[in-house]
Formats: sequence, C-alpha cells, structure tokens
Amino acid sequence: MYDLLVVGAGPYGLSIASHAAAAGLSLRVFGRPMASWRDHMPRGMFLKSEPWASDLSDPEGRLRLAAYCAEQGTQARHGEPIPVDVFASYGLWFAQHAVPEVDERTITLVRPCLGGFEAVTADGATVRARTVALAVGVLPFTEVPVAFRELGPEYVSHSSDHGDLDRFLGKDVTVVGGGQAALETAALLAEQGTRVRVVVRSPGLAWNDVPPPWERPWWQSARAPHTGLGCGWRNWLYAERPGAFRRLPEPTRARIAATALGPAGAWWIRDRVERSVDLLLGHEVAAAYASRGGVRLEMLGSAGQLTSLDTEHVIAATGFRATRERLGLLTEDVREGLAASPDGSPHVGREFESSWPGLFMAGLVTAAGFGPAMRFVHGASFTARTLVRGVRRRLRTGPARLPVPGARERRGVLGAAGR
Ligand SMILES: Cc1cc2nc3c(=O)[nH]c(=O)nc-3n(C[C@H](O)[C@H](O)[C@H](O)COP(=O)(O)OP(=O)(O)OC[C@H]3O[C@@H](n4cnc5c(N)ncnc54)[C@H](O)[C@@H]3O)c2cc1C
Repeated sequence: MYDLLVVGAGPYGLSIASHAAAAGLSLRVFGRPMASWRDHMPRGMFLKSEPWASDLSDPEGRLRLAAYCAEQGTQARHGEPIPVDVFASYGLWFAQHAVPEVDERTITLVRPCLGGFEAVTADGATVRARTVALAVGVLPFTEVPVAFRELGPEYVSHSSDHGDLDRFLGKDVTVVGGGQAALETAALLAEQGTRVRVVVRSPGLAWNDVPPPWERPWWQSARAPHTGLGCGWRNWLYAERPGAFRRLPEPTRARIAATALGPAGAWWIRDRVERSVDLLLGHEVAAAYASRGGVRLEMLGSAGQLTSLDTEHVIAATGFRATRERLGLLTEDVREGLAASPDGSPHVGREFESSWPGLFMAGLVTAAGFGPAMRFVHGASFTARTLVRGVRRRLRTGPARLPVPGARERRGVLGAAGR
C-alpha cells in the first residue's frame, strides 16, 4: 500500500508529487501530464498570468519556468505572455525532473478500503494507498448554462472542449461569456476566418491593465506591490497568504471567492478583440434550440427587449463550477459524506484534507477555503507544501478511519477537517 496516490498530473498534482517524493513518501501519480494545457486549449493561446507567477513547485525552487526557458535558450520576461504550448512543455520537463514516473491512465473510481483507499484505473487495475490527493483540475467541473444543456455537441461545446479550432473554419460561431477564455477563443476564431460574435451578459467588458514595470520607484511598489495575481495589497493577501485568507469568516470568503478577479480580458488581447470580433453586450441567452442545421438563440437585452440570432455553433466559455457532486470518481457514500462550503465545493481543513480523513483536495475545488490563488498555477506552491505536511501528519496519526455516513452532519459541518 502506497503512502499517497496523486490523481491528476497538472500543475497542482505534479507540484504535490514533487514535494511528496522529496519528503520520502512512497507514491503513485496518475493522469495525462498537463492534459488541460496540451489537449483543451487551442493552439495560439497565451497564459494570462505573468511568467514569474506561473511556476510549478519543487521543494528547492530549482525547477521554475525561468529555469526551463533558460535551458531552452529563451527568456521568461515580465510583461511578455507565455504561449500555452511552451507552458505545457515546461510542465512535462518539470515532471521528468521532479516527479516519480507518471502513470497516464485515468482513475475512474476512488473508494475507501481498510487502511485507506483503493483506486481503479480506466483499464480495471487497482492501486491502494493510505492517503489520496485529488488534483483533478478544472475539466470535471465545466459549466454550461441551462439554456444549452439539451443541445447536442454538434451545436454546443464548452470552450475547454477544443485543442484546436480548425473545425470552425468557414462557419458562423457564437461565443458566450465575457472572460479571457471567451475573448481569446473569439479572437483566434476571427483570425482564422470564422464569422464570430461574443454574447456577454454584462453591459461592458472588463480589461486587465498593462502590468507596471518590474523595477519601479519604491513608493509605487509600496503602494501596489506586484503579486502573483496582479498588483495591489488585496491581491497580495489572496496570492501570498492563502493560509490567512482561510481564517477570514466564511461569509467573507464566500463573497470574495464569488467576486474577486472576475471575468476580464488580458491587456494584450484587447486590440485583437476590438479589431475583429462583434460584441453583443448586455445580452443574456434565455433559450436556445436547434433550427435549420444550426442553433437559434433567443436573447433578452438589458432594456428588456427580445432578440434572436441564428448561428451554426455555440461555444460556452462559461467557466467551471467545482461542486462535490461533480467529483464523479468518488463513490457516492464518500461524495455525499463530504462536508461542503456554501458554494457546494468540498470543505477542506487547513492542510487541504477534506472531511473524509486521508482524502485531500487541491486546485480549483479549494478556492472557497483558500481563496482566488487556488484558481491559478500560482497557488500550487502553497498547496503542495501545506498538503504534503497534512499527508505526513495523517500518516503519523494512523490509517484513515472510515467515517460513518451521516455522522458528520451530527457533529456539525466542519467535522475532522475543521481544525
Ligand atoms: C483557457 C484557460 C486559460 C488559463 N490560463 C491560466 C493562466 O494564464 N494562468 C494560471 O495560473 N491559470 C490559468 N488557468 C487556470 C488553470 O486551469 C489552472 O491554473 C491550472 O491548470 C490548475 O492546475 P491543476 O493541476 O489544478 O489542473 P489541470 O491543469 O486541469 O490538471 C488536472 C490534471 O488532472 C488530470 N485528471 C483529471 N481527472 C483525472 C482522473 N480521473 N484520473 C487521472 N487524471 C485525471 C488531467 O488529465 C490533468 O492533467 C487557465 C484556465 C483555462 C481554462
């Protein structure tokens, strides 16, 4: 039986594996490395985060993005966006140097067993471990608005369904959403010759500012320090002190998790969008149905007017919602036994352990507890360090006891993870 099973080999899973291996834990890592970045983002996309805020984490801090770029004979410079394929290659390089061999098989089931957990791979093999870290990223949590859910994949897809956009050459596509994924997808579509428009619910788009230079007069840095999530002291708290964020009252955390760093376009995409993409601002799609080989959208304008639009395909760039119900690889008793945060995501304790002893969570699912950094690569460093400490503590305190279903509710919502 292994000490730790890491499910997921994206920035969080790989960072956790690196810290766990360095701590001497016996572990297995499952998942296609950097799959979100290699298979689910179209060619030509760039990272929105700064290169220095996009490091995976090894305990000695040697395997940063800058080190990878230097080895390739390039440079990762502040203010110069990194192409997604460069970042994906960096992740693979990190995996080669910092992580025991990654098993690319998907884990289809994680169930409790005596002394820990048993995981089942897509081809039916089983692996046992005393603790599990779920670092499954964003893909299990894609959110598509209700209006589109009855339509088939020929009519509607999620923005993360596309590793390339070639199938839309010569078509008419409508992108729904006002964040970076929507705007960058639309720009790429327009630039390849697809007729494209973006439907946005809010009356205007938000754009991130051009970041100030790295070297600045001290008083400018003191007023608005650079942080992994943008400039300013508020972002500093989110980016650099996730542990302190978790001590804020739960309603405050819930409000921040729902509103902070909301949908916005990167500064470098603005010209490309404004030059080539039609924007339908202040429009909400109320209904969508298949019509004449495409989709008819019925939309409600901000002044209450109804309009309709025919398009061949809709791309819902409408983000992700990390609820415990969507953790489909957990058995029902585990999933339903997990204490939840107000947004429906699993509640985690101060070392990322869920309310099921020995089951740890990382990445987007922990944003309600640890704040907006968990939605970005930048949060991987704090997570890996803290989570591996939690795993070691759990291993010291003995094998996971199987919680009695329903006991958690009787004990109050925090249960074992509320420390
Ligand atoms: C279009 C887009 C652009 C983004 N740009 C940025 C950016 O510029 N900067 C930034 O910091 N963040 C960005 N993000 C957010 C980004 O997704 C996260 O920061 C980062 O990928 C989180 O890492 P992760 O390891 O949690 O998840 P992921 O990168 O999603 O990795 C999860 C891994 O788990 C594996 N996996 C999932 N389920 C299983 C299973 N059952 N069995 C085995 N393996 C499994 C997957 O194959 C994958 O490799 C962007 C997101 C999107 C959608």
